[in-house]
Amino acid sequence: MTHILHRTIGARLPTAVGGGGVELYDADGRSYIDASGGAAVSCLGHGHPDVVAALHAQADKLAYAHTSFFTSDAAEALADRLVTGAPDGISHVYFNSGGSEAVEAALKMARQYFVEIGQPNRSRIIARRQSYHGNTLGALATGGNAWRRAPFAPLLVETHHIDPCFAYRYQEVSESDDAYAARAAGALEDKILELGPETVMAFVAEPVVGATAGAVPPVADYFKQIRAICDRYGILLILDEVMCGMGRTGTLHACEQDGVAPDLMTIAKGLGGGYQPIGATLLSGRIFEAFAAGSGSFQHGHTYICHPMACAAALAVQEVVARDRLLDNVQVMGAHLRRRLTERFGNHPHVGDIRGRGLFVGVELVADRSTKEPFDPDLKLNARVKRAAMERGLAVYPAGGTIDGARGDHVLLAPPFIIDAMTVDTVVERLGDAIDAALPTAA
Ligand code: PLP
Repeated sequence: MTHILHRTIGARLPTAVGGGGVELYDADGRSYIDASGGAAVSCLGHGHPDVVAALHAQADKLAYAHTSFFTSDAAEALADRLVTGAPDGISHVYFNSGGSEAVEAALKMARQYFVEIGQPNRSRIIARRQSYHGNTLGALATGGNAWRRAPFAPLLVETHHIDPCFAYRYQEVSESDDAYAARAAGALEDKILELGPETVMAFVAEPVVGATAGAVPPVADYFKQIRAICDRYGILLILDEVMCGMGRTGTLHACEQDGVAPDLMTIAKGLGGGYQPIGATLLSGRIFEAFAAGSGSFQHGHTYICHPMACAAALAVQEVVARDRLLDNVQVMGAHLRRRLTERFGNHPHVGDIRGRGLFVGVELVADRSTKEPFDPDLKLNARVKRAAMERGLAVYPAGGTIDGARGDHVLLAPPFIIDAMTVDTVVERLGDAIDAALPTAA
């Protein structure tokens, strides 16, 4: 009997009672390798002593002070650190409590920016199908995740979507990467021209698509072309790095590898590594200057923005990631993970694609490798894989609707940055067994 409205009513969930390093423990004494960090959250693993110590110290000093009265050392230090490591042009940070809040703030900043600079006709948002930007209404409207949007469609503001840059599903066999990048980015220009450039406010995209399509990186040059198109029409580029950011792909920000800098960027998950709920919206100098020269504020706010406990935890997480050079490990272990997955699944009849960057990897499951035909969604293969993996002491993040919100299955892997090669091998072994056990027997 539970009084919690759990994600799935009636589901029997183990009770997590502890964690250490890459493992989680339940109340029955079972342990699980946390190979997805929940939803790409736990970048440092569990129970990291330095983060726990920082939390104790902050609790002893100050738990909370409202931001209309005070600032705090923890928030100021974290903002300094984030701006120092941020993409070119980013000058300020707005802290909130998670990814959806970060996206909502980015959308409102974009709108207020155009109001402040005298372009109030700009209000339209363009984003991509098969994306996820959060579950609050503005973020949900922006995302292109069909099944998440469907029941709430009448509540969502109008937004506009183009196809994602998703080579396995959209690139023609005879098409070069360059030609595909130009075609995929060209869809943005077409949409801008269709809507009227002077009405468009922002283009929103995840540099590496996370939960909806399973760690899909863009082809080379795609984002450079996107940046150029946004600049041509005076449109803000909002990069949502809530899932793929803060080191997950092997560089602090995923967009570094695409050679672009956004006007606004959202981060969350790996920012605090799950030790506290925290997200942030990073804004460029020109947006800050427009607010400063205009109304003198960003017209927004929540009770818990800049929460000192959350900022202290995130500061400690970021200090450990830098001090222990963990992004080097993300690159090395990411390559090792993809190598091992290719060895295990390279000839597997039901693994169509292995993709990703750093320790952010997707495995797409298909009924038929040659046609890329997915499994029947009624099979709920992704849920079966998740169950089979948990039975084998492995927590991974499978999802369905990979192709269009209804069809397709993938498994997302996003283990902690501290993972070692032996544990990667165990992850691949258990995942291989879980997938084989979950496949329908006729498959
Ligand atoms: N944006 C992206 C890219 C995400 O992956 C998520 C969550 O998975 C969000 C936004 C929403 O974040 P939150 O669940 O913290 O509200």
